Amino acid sequence: MQSLMDRLRPQCPVRGSWSEADEWAWALATRRLDLDELADLAARFAIERLGCHSARLHLKDATPAASTVADAASEPTTVLAIPLADGQAELTLSFADSTAQNLDIPDTAGACIDLLDLRLRDLLALRQLRSEAQAAQRNEHLQQALYAIADLAYSDLDLREMLARVHEIVDRLTYAKNFYIALYDDARDVMYFPYFADDDDASISRAGPEVAGSDYPNSLTFAVLHGGTSLLGPSQPLRRQLGLGDDIRLGRECVDWLGVPMLHGGRVRGAVVVQSYDEDHRYSEDDRSLLAFVAQHILSAVTRKQTQDDLEAAVMRRTNELAEANAALRQEVGERERVQHLQAAQYRIAQLASESGSVDSFYAGVHTAVAGLLNARNFFIALVSDDGTELHFPYLVDERDDALLSRRLTNGVTEWVLRNQRPLLATADEMRALINAGEMVVFGTLAECWLGVPLLLDNRALGVMVVQSYDSDRDYGPAEQEILQFASFHVATALERRQTHERLRLANIELEKRVEHRTHELKLANADLRQQIVVREQAESRLQHEALHDALTGLPNRAALLGRLERALTRYQQDPTRLFAVLFLDLDRFKVVNDSVGHLLGDELLIEAGRRIAGCVREPDSVARLGGDEFTILLEDIRSVEDASHVASRVLAALIDPIRIGEKEIYTSASIGIALTHPRYTRPEELLRDADVAMYRAKAHGRQRFELFDEQLRQEALNVLDMESDLRRALGRHEFEPYLQPIVRLSDGAVLGFEALLRWRHSSRGLLLPAEFLAVAEDSGNVEQIDWQLYEQVLRAIPDLAEPTAYVGINVSARHFRSPDLAQSLLEMIAAYRVPPSRVRVEVTEGALLQNPEQACSTMLSLRDAGVLTSLDDFGTGYSSLSYLHRFPLHALKIDRSFVAELKSDLSGSSAAVVRAIRALAGSLNMEVIAEGIETQLQCDALMRLECSIGQGFLFALPRPAQELARRH
Ligand code: C2E
Ligand code: CA
Ligand code: CA
Repeated sequence: MQSLMDRLRPQCPVRGSWSEADEWAWALATRRLDLDELADLAARFAIERLGCHSARLHLKDATPAASTVADAASEPTTVLAIPLADGQAELTLSFADSTAQNLDIPDTAGACIDLLDLRLRDLLALRQLRSEAQAAQRNEHLQQALYAIADLAYSDLDLREMLARVHEIVDRLTYAKNFYIALYDDARDVMYFPYFADDDDASISRAGPEVAGSDYPNSLTFAVLHGGTSLLGPSQPLRRQLGLGDDIRLGRECVDWLGVPMLHGGRVRGAVVVQSYDEDHRYSEDDRSLLAFVAQHILSAVTRKQTQDDLEAAVMRRTNELAEANAALRQEVGERERVQHLQAAQYRIAQLASESGSVDSFYAGVHTAVAGLLNARNFFIALVSDDGTELHFPYLVDERDDALLSRRLTNGVTEWVLRNQRPLLATADEMRALINAGEMVVFGTLAECWLGVPLLLDNRALGVMVVQSYDSDRDYGPAEQEILQFASFHVATALERRQTHERLRLANIELEKRVEHRTHELKLANADLRQQIVVREQAESRLQHEALHDALTGLPNRAALLGRLERALTRYQQDPTRLFAVLFLDLDRFKVVNDSVGHLLGDELLIEAGRRIAGCVREPDSVARLGGDEFTILLEDIRSVEDASHVASRVLAALIDPIRIGEKEIYTSASIGIALTHPRYTRPEELLRDADVAMYRAKAHGRQRFELFDEQLRQEALNVLDMESDLRRALGRHEFEPYLQPIVRLSDGAVLGFEALLRWRHSSRGLLLPAEFLAVAEDSGNVEQIDWQLYEQVLRAIPDLAEPTAYVGINVSARHFRSPDLAQSLLEMIAAYRVPPSRVRVEVTEGALLQNPEQACSTMLSLRDAGVLTSLDDFGTGYSSLSYLHRFPLHALKIDRSFVAELKSDLSGSSAAVVRAIRALAGSLNMEVIAEGIETQLQCDALMRLECSIGQGFLFALPRPAQELARRH
């Protein structure tokens, strides 16, 4: 194989011998050279082989790989620069003489230069590769370092420890023996050092926890912080360069100082500083970039760490707060539990007080409750006796003593509490001292600790409640005293309540006894009352029956009838097909019968009549007695008026047979008025009234018959109404006047007196007789006024009468006569008209006498005493029993016209008998007899034969106006 030398030899350009050229080429081709060695070799080659004064291999990008070999003996004159490795290097050749101007570089030398160029290229390429590899490795280190720093930020290490590790890492990257970190608060212009490592003891880190910028105007660190840019260089020249002075507080000057700011969000947050006091360690621009890069990562690690620390501190603070709150809550819960405990005990004691168990179980219960609150292994209750002289121990539980005997109050420890009314908490020593001082005695075993509280109620000590301990370990304190005292209030209240309860119980027993006794009495009284109620109820139902029934006949009475009528009317109003009728019955001439046979028999008659009438109807029709001889029949649900007529006929027929009463047979009959229901009726009384009206017509039409209230009767009734208003008007117009009819001596016709008869000169109806209006006047209450108007005219007329001594009889209606002041009024009027009282006579009917005989009697006496005589009018028609006549101061009897009319010439018949009887009676009573209504001479004769000497009638004269009878002047 051909060697390199073989290949080089033919081409070698070097002057001289091959061997020389060989040598250099050999060396260049084969020797293992680095750049410096190659440069050195190249220089030596140029000097030795090419004759250069000096030669230098110069690398463009770096200074160290250059070599100069100089020959100091001569000055260089010519310089030749040969570019190598594509201009990356230059071989500069200096020649001492001008030989260089025609420099002829031999071929071998040229080949060596080519070799040099080749080797240089290789070495540079190698160096390039090597430096790239180094850079890659450094980058990797840096990367790892940054990761490590980032990792540290999340570590559990504290900040200082973490920064120490950071320091280690930075130290691996560059020379960082002296390293510190400053954090900066730009708002306040202060910094502090979370980490500081420096050889120099007198460094700025000693200044204090915080360093203010204003205090250190010459500090390089502040210069970085203020400027926000990094600074690099020896410290003193650097300060000069920045215009800063010296400050010994800043410590030793350093060989190299490198500080980089830590920036965040455009603000300076701190600085990282390394410095060297060693000439061998200086910092390059690479270090500056590296540190700047690392500083940012340190800042985020510090910030993160600080945030984490802050967070942890916050969590810790919050945890502490929670723990504190928790503790407070726990304490509160404890307190509440204690209070609850107390309350439960209190409640238990209060409950015990109200329980009905024995007093022993109460004390035991209290003991249990107290034992739940404190040590009450030894517990007793002492109570003062009612009279306040003795102490009892109703409850005692004790480890040492079985019992405490009752005793008179003395100076025992229990009494001390009682006397002072406040708790006593004493140890054995304290009590012993008191005992020795003679201030108290202790009954039973002396306790290690004794706690007694008074049972106070209204400032009065009922007793003492005591707990004691024989165990020196278990004593009591203020807390127990408070609890026991608290319980004592409730025990005292409970005791009092129990005592009150007991007293109440006894009182109740007493009360119950009394109640029982009283109940018994009440029971008896009740039975009595019930009996009375039964009697009363019976009486009441009797009364009720009586209220609705007629006592005599047992038939429903007027009230009952009205009730039934009312119901019938309501039914009819609701349903107009339900017709009904009321029949009004009046027994004919019953009064005569009654007067003649006596009331008892009259009553019998009414009973029998009622029975017969009732026998004529059946349910639902009803018969009622209204009073006297008046009965009604209510016919319900009739089809027509014929039904009513039919019943009326039946009643009339039923009364035809004579009624036997005792020995007597009495004939009776009835007049019946029928009112048929009609929409115009609104009240039951209206039906009754109309039936009554119809009944009057039946009577007027001859009795023993029935009449229906019809349109004519209704009209008449309406007329009555008209009449009433007419009468009132007539009074106002003085339309009444007296007509006088003479009363004469029958034998010769001599006028003895007159009777004044009422006439109404009606404005449209002419002269009306009393029969046409008097009844209405009486019913409507106008008759008195009419009378007085008439009397006045009579009294005015008397003095003018032709007969100077003749009297004038005035009729006084029965009702008017009963008025108590009639006599006085009349006498006053007579006096007023100066008429001699003897010229006035009063005519009354029997009706005026019967109702109130005493009043009538006294009126008559007053009149008679004044000279006004009274005649009894219409005698024989009424209820007249002759027997009562003697009781009244009557002057005359006027025989009713009906007797006169029936007189026969032979004086046969009842009328003559009646007249004779009247005449005899009047004679015995010394009364005058005046016959009325004498129309014929025959009657006049008969009367005279019956020794009746005075009379009046149309035979002698018609009634004529008073003035026609006046004296002719
Ligand atoms: P009396 O008191 O029985 O009066 C007598 C009645 O008989 C008078 O009727 C009279 O006109 C009438 N008379 C007289 N002679 C005869 C006769 O021969 N035949 C017939 N058939 N009748 C004769 P008069 O005036 O219609 O009075 C009727 C009743 O009115 C009186 O009955 C009396 O009760 C009452 N009366 C009359 N005037 C008054 C008076 O001023 N006040 C009061 N309260 N009642 C009076
Ligand atoms: Ca008369
Ligand atoms: Ca008469």
